[in-house]
Amino acid sequence: MSEKDELFDKKVECPVCKHEFTTKKIRSSRLRIEKRDEDFLNHYTTENPIKYNIFVCPNCGYSSWESKFEQIKGDQIGIVIDNISSRWNPRDFGGIRSNMEAIETYKLALVIGMQLECTKLELGNTCLNIGWLYRLDKKREEEKRFLILARDKFIEAYNTESLSGTNMDESKLSYLIGELSRRIGERETALSWFNTCLNLTSTRLNPALDSMAREQWRKTKDEE
Ligand SMILES: [Zn+2]
Repeated sequence: MSEKDELFDKKVECPVCKHEFTTKKIRSSRLRIEKRDEDFLNHYTTENPIKYNIFVCPNCGYSSWESKFEQIKGDQIGIVIDNISSRWNPRDFGGIRSNMEAIETYKLALVIGMQLECTKLELGNTCLNIGWLYRLDKKREEEKRFLILARDKFIEAYNTESLSGTNMDESKLSYLIGELSRRIGERETALSWFNTCLNLTSTRLNPALDSMAREQWRKTKDEE
């Protein structure tokens, strides 16, 4: 199957500068999952759709998750214009993206997300996707650096933010913090978060997650 068949152009209007541009998306009907890592990175037989999750306006530099791209509000638009657009060298990420280009889009979204005071959960997710893209590119050191950043943001989210209205709950998040801690070699922290996960009532109601947490707890123990 050629890349031409998988990808299509989506037309987007930038909510900051009103410029119209196109950005690639992958047809979901073409997606075939090959395997899933224990920290939820899906590998595909096709291009990985995470490469196209971030929309970047080529005109003003505004970059954000597709799901949030249009949600930017008035005062935030001012922040982007002052801090991003004024320094933006026009660049177009609307074509087929290499992993490195995809990483650049997430890094742009991360900088803007921090300025717009996005939730720690969202910033953590952005860092996690950067880590995943480095994994797909077999750049282990950079992957680890971003898994640490993601893990730390997720701990802050777990301790200080409401997860309602997100695709995350306490069980899944505590499991993920455990698994990221395991991957960066912090065994004690990993075991403690897997225990947190296993002690939650909500985990007992989610048998698949419960067994993943047990399995990864055991794996962490065996790594002694
Ligand atoms: Zn724009």
